[in-house]
Amino acid sequence: MSIVYPQAAPEREQELALNYQGVLQQVENLSKEHNIKSSITLVAVSKLKPSSDIMALYKAGVRHFGENYVQELITKSQELPQDINWHFIGGLQSGKAKDLAKGVRSLYAVETIDALKKVKQLDRVRGEVEGSVINVYLQINTSEEEQKSGYSLSDLKDINETIEFILSDECKNVKLLGLMTIGSFQESTAEGEENQDFKKLVTLKNTLDEKYNINLGLSMGMSSDYAQAIKQGSTNVRVGTSIFGVRPPRT
Ligand SMILES: *Cc1c(COP(=O)(O)O)cnc(C)c1O
Repeated sequence: MSIVYPQAAPEREQELALNYQGVLQQVENLSKEHNIKSSITLVAVSKLKPSSDIMALYKAGVRHFGENYVQELITKSQELPQDINWHFIGGLQSGKAKDLAKGVRSLYAVETIDALKKVKQLDRVRGEVEGSVINVYLQINTSEEEQKSGYSLSDLKDINETIEFILSDECKNVKLLGLMTIGSFQESTAEGEENQDFKKLVTLKNTLDEKYNINLGLSMGMSSDYAQAIKQGSTNVRVGTSIFGVRPPRT
């Protein structure tokens, strides 16, 4: 019996493929223009958009998708092809790491780690179920805004502790990919200047790379600021609106 996947209308399929190609082309142009050596992953952020939209891009060859809500991701991952690389990019409440590790077999990355205990949950639960290693990014609250989650830049001890656990033999099912930040709205819309929040992330990366002899990736940049992020060394951009259009409100 073959599985029937959700299908979008042909016009929608075409529109999405064109939007995606446009952003990808931009990413490639910027990468050339700024002489970037590392490859850049374009994550299509599909939160609050239907599975049929994701399937349309899947048919066009896209494999990296980003989601913000645990239950929505679990549902989508079960009704869509198993070789999608899912990125969880939403706020991760304590206890939900377990649901992710158990419920999303093709979970590729969790980009919003902000505490050691969430890494430990992912590692432990993933060890009990089928599924590949989970890559993580540590989210850093570079803009120090109260409503944003992530490690504070003044808590280097917490960051070090988390990295040391992931790098230890004790941690078997979680791998460290890099650092992630969102940055403030003001910084993302400041025309033509260096983004100071991205700059803080790059500085932290350089410090940690040297301390642990590693090469951390950088997840920074969304629709409004991915061009600037690439210029400053991002290796993973998370783009929603420019690909899928404006999102409906969450109900
Ligand atoms: C929603 C979201 C995005 C995508 O934002 P757009 O502005 O639609 O490109 C990227 N990163 C995170 C963490 C998000 O929550």
